[in-house]
Amino acid sequence: MFKTRNSADMKKVYLKPKKDLIEKYGDRQGSFYTFYPMNGLWREDVGGNDYLNAIDQLIQQRPESPLSLYIHFPFCIKQCLFCHCMTVISSRKGDHHKFVDYMLRELDLLHRHFKSKGFKPNFKELHFGGGSPSIIPDEDFLRIWEALKPMLQPEDLSECTIEIDPRYGASIERLRFYRSLGIDRISFGVQDFDEEVGKIINRVNPEEMIEALLTDEVRQMFTSINFDLIYGLPQQTPEKFKKTVRTAIRLNPDRLAVYVIGHRPDIYKHQRAFEKYYMADSHESAIMFVDAVNEFIANGYDFIGIDHLAKSTDVLSIAKKDGTLFRNAIGYTPGRSVDIIGLGPSSMGIVGGNYFQNCYTLPTYYDAIDRGELPIIRGFESNLDDLIRREVMFDIVLVERIDKKKITAEFKIENFDKYFRNELKALKEFEQDGLVSMHEEEIRVTDVGRFFQRQICQVFDVYNRQLGYTHSREFDDGKTGLDRKVQMSVASKN
Ligand code: SF4
Repeated sequence: MFKTRNSADMKKVYLKPKKDLIEKYGDRQGSFYTFYPMNGLWREDVGGNDYLNAIDQLIQQRPESPLSLYIHFPFCIKQCLFCHCMTVISSRKGDHHKFVDYMLRELDLLHRHFKSKGFKPNFKELHFGGGSPSIIPDEDFLRIWEALKPMLQPEDLSECTIEIDPRYGASIERLRFYRSLGIDRISFGVQDFDEEVGKIINRVNPEEMIEALLTDEVRQMFTSINFDLIYGLPQQTPEKFKKTVRTAIRLNPDRLAVYVIGHRPDIYKHQRAFEKYYMADSHESAIMFVDAVNEFIANGYDFIGIDHLAKSTDVLSIAKKDGTLFRNAIGYTPGRSVDIIGLGPSSMGIVGGNYFQNCYTLPTYYDAIDRGELPIIRGFESNLDDLIRREVMFDIVLVERIDKKKITAEFKIENFDKYFRNELKALKEFEQDGLVSMHEEEIRVTDVGRFFQRQICQVFDVYNRQLGYTHSREFDDGKTGLDRKVQMSVASKN
């Protein structure tokens, strides 16, 4: 049995990493390892036919395999200035309606393919993300819901989630509507409760607004409520962020994602508005994060990994203890399914260990659907080495332990130490700095090492070593993030 951290470990309050460690390793942050390799390296010669071939293989080899369905709704009412997401700013119902028409045609293309193979997908999770899916007009939301039914029965789902922008149309009545359909988990983009920070980032979320939505009735309706917070924002001092953390604790969500801002005004022109403001340096940001994690732990949350915390009753925390926790395009998941079907622009599919991504811009997306084609613009077909390394990295971020025997048995490699001889050499430095402990049969991430999981993963990332990428985003002009050396933030969700 794979040994995982027990709940006593997860509740431990962590010492702050020393300043020299933050300075030494802080600049080595790259991917968040939701994928390996990162999406900037996915190839434009992987398209819709490859996606269908991967689906056909899945149908032949694992027809009962649980699946997740992700639907990306790209519209937002206002541009949040920290955000890197694929968004289109429009409150026009006509735009939303037109998009839903096209997205349903994309769904139909897939559904017809499934039918031609006699395949009834075993969807266990459904996620609405964006953009701001909570601004989808009710009539369009119902159209999506009805169109899904031939493929998916809401009562068969183990989890159905939606991201909520609390500023627009997020009433109790709207939440009741979601619950009546079967949605059982909601996620609020909070970012920071501080008004000054909120004004600068064009995203004011007063605590009273969120609190008014979190009535006893709402808390009982949904099995899990998540808050997204961001640190490193303009004019956000450690003191202000501490206040936001305390407010979040008072409002008592089940889960938290605590992201660092991806500050790249060279790429995201809207971030130039931050130039005149104070912004924390990497050391101060790291301290904000560690302090926040400790404060949440002291108030009953478990540190899941990288940027997530959850109450011990939350399914993520239970999955972490049970060793079923997983990581994919949706972030940390309880691991019910490893394959994902994505719908909508920029959405990502994962089938049989291979990655696929839809095109980014709406005109490109609409053109592909008008041609009757799946709008896949790039993907990545993984080789054995990719899969081995991905498993090792996921072990680092999920269970914080690499079991050498497990990896050699699973992938039939002769000798772990030989296969990873360069990586083990590189890890010596991490061991000397107290971030990992290395043993004959396993490598363990230490308590302080939990704050450097991304840097530990990077040791095993052969593409990073060869190409020196930072992170990526995708464009529809054939250029990848690698071409542009873009650092992509995860600080982009509602
Ligand atoms: S953070 Fe969310 S609401 Fe704001 S622009 Fe990005 S996707 Fe839209």
